[in-house]
Amino acid sequence: MENINTNTKNVFKIKNLNLSYGSKSALQNISMDIPKNQITALIGPSGCGKSTLLRTLNRMNDLIDNCKIKGDIRYEDNDIFEKDYDVIGLRTNVGMVFQKPNPFPMSIFDNIAYGPRCQGIKNKKTLQEIVEKSLKNAALYDEVKDRLRDSAKELSGGQQQRLCIARAIAMEPDVILMDEPTSALDPIATAKIEDLILELKEKYTIVIVTHNMQQAARISDNTAFLLMGDLIEYDKTDIIFSQPSKEKTEEYITGRFG
Ligand code: ADP
Ligand code: MG
Repeated sequence: MENINTNTKNVFKIKNLNLSYGSKSALQNISMDIPKNQITALIGPSGCGKSTLLRTLNRMNDLIDNCKIKGDIRYEDNDIFEKDYDVIGLRTNVGMVFQKPNPFPMSIFDNIAYGPRCQGIKNKKTLQEIVEKSLKNAALYDEVKDRLRDSAKELSGGQQQRLCIARAIAMEPDVILMDEPTSALDPIATAKIEDLILELKEKYTIVIVTHNMQQAARISDNTAFLLMGDLIEYDKTDIIFSQPSKEKTEEYITGRFG
């Protein structure tokens, strides 16, 4: 079950991952592989450990006091917990988009140029090209091309979220982690982001947390179902939603709890 794609390269290989916050366990013995250029969804009821698992992939849990991790995660075959591992490089390759759109309080242009500038890119023309390309790839360019110098805070919620995706893309990542990226959006903005995510998998590997099972069914290739920190079942999305092998999965996807 942990390796569901024998023909596909796996970007992440997670083995026997255990994570606790202080004395409270949040993930128990998780093993799963994340295939390249596919969309992998993490589903399960609130508090089951979806965000925690997502955050371990680019070591965002390092920022949380009390968080203890055991086990093994390989990114592109390198052990991300190894001493002296390049965590900054990992976070550049593995970008993140959060639940609530969080544009920086600056212009649309500067939001996208922020990361590349931090990496030392100063050339105006280069920055302009990066901004334009990132906005195009995030399906936002046409809506904002005449007001790149306006504050990002003036955009609608859905536009702000696409801006955050563009900001992640500007760093030229390989993987984009998304934690409930549409839960603050209306259905039309949600549909736009879902279309965008489907386009993005041509170039990127996507791992998305969603509490919306229909969303997982609509857009993901693979689905992992978590319950109280255990990985109950991980398989191709159509199998999880049509013929899951575990009773708990069946109960969850048919809405008997959650
Ligand atoms: P989900 O995203 O599935 O709702 P989380 O990964 O946020 O679940 O949380 C899993 C468990 O870990 C929950 O019991 C939650 O209360 C706990 N938890 C999450 N973040 C922290 C934290 N920073 N400190 C302590 N406990 C946490
Ligand atoms: Mg969460």
